[in-house]
Amino acid sequence: MRRLIGFAALFAFAAATPAAAQDATVVIHTSKLLDGKGATMSNADIVMVNGRITRVGPAAAVPKGAREIDLRGRTVLPGLIDVHSHLTWYFNRKGRYHTGGPNGDGDTPIQSILAAAANAYATLMAGFTTIQSPGSPEDKDLRDWIASQGLPGPRILTSLNALTHGSPDELRTLVQQRKAQGADFIKIFASASIRDGGKQSMTDEQLLAACREAKAQGLRTLVHAHSAESVRATVNAGCDQVEHGIFVTQAELDLMAQKNVYFDPQCSLVFHNYLDNRAKYDGIGNYNAEGFAAMERAIPLAAEAIRKALATKGLKITYGTDAVAGAHGRNAEDLICRVKDAGESPMHAIVSATSVSAESLRLGDKIGAIAPGMEADIIATDGDPMTDITAMRRVSFVMKDGKVFRNDGKN
Ligand SMILES: [Zn+2]
Repeated sequence: MRRLIGFAALFAFAAATPAAAQDATVVIHTSKLLDGKGATMSNADIVMVNGRITRVGPAAAVPKGAREIDLRGRTVLPGLIDVHSHLTWYFNRKGRYHTGGPNGDGDTPIQSILAAAANAYATLMAGFTTIQSPGSPEDKDLRDWIASQGLPGPRILTSLNALTHGSPDELRTLVQQRKAQGADFIKIFASASIRDGGKQSMTDEQLLAACREAKAQGLRTLVHAHSAESVRATVNAGCDQVEHGIFVTQAELDLMAQKNVYFDPQCSLVFHNYLDNRAKYDGIGNYNAEGFAAMERAIPLAAEAIRKALATKGLKITYGTDAVAGAHGRNAEDLICRVKDAGESPMHAIVSATSVSAESLRLGDKIGAIAPGMEADIIATDGDPMTDITAMRRVSFVMKDGKVFRNDGKN
């Protein structure tokens, strides 16, 4: 009974408060708008009600009581998506890459999650309203606190812990466990790290077992694969997305296109970030002289692989930076690399980081485009990325789910 009285009071309050009605409808005025699917509009208004877009089109009479936001003079586009970001990776207060466990740096789980929350905030402020993390168990609470407890950050999809080994039966069980634990998808390692040569590390049978089971459970599979053989094995096992693929040849690119497998290559941020922050990583695990040399060698290969991928008919290329400690908030750098070093058109790169990536997450009907029915994830840049892709570094407005998190120079 007490609960009923509480609800009644709440409704009475909402009805009597004009602010509630005002906040419900928002109109954004734009001069240049990229819809995320390849179209450009001039002088369009975006109308949204309760965080969902209801109309995009020529400026019209503003609904009575609507809140207006003026983004004219900037370039407006959908919130960006990074399909490969590790928010829980950070530098500790001694300026070293954080490591956990008994031989770790001694940071408490609370300190680590606070660092992850700071990374989430930096990512959102850079215009990335959705990220996919492959993955760590701490992502789950971060995801849920952002989704429902008011913590500012991008929408998160996570695989929780990745699958790295096990018999086919064990892998099937692990897939079921991840689902029960709340994973949004499954991450599998099919090859070694680039620092260890990138050779295939899971057999064809193991990959087949894991990807088939995930499909049966309704979960997507993202597979870390560097060598050409590991990419081929991944595609032939019916997995959904290849991560990295630094050593792919045209044959694997064609195979991915033919089998409708998404390709998620990185252009430069991950490599430059490691090299620029070498002293913070050096001496931990495979972050040694050999590892850094391998990453240095990877830089020209990465741009070349993307160039080839772009020329491959029908291949769907997502946008994933593999952001690790030191890279959060700089997620747009690979857009700049893809345009400047791999020859991608700015529009194609932005469509990749919005609607194509949304589709890869199976969220193509909710995010990644500015269109009626979509959630209001909207950003703006100072300058026009169509003529100067570095404008992607100058995000000055961020709205996620209809809520404004950033609007430089305005309150
Ligand atoms: Zn990664």
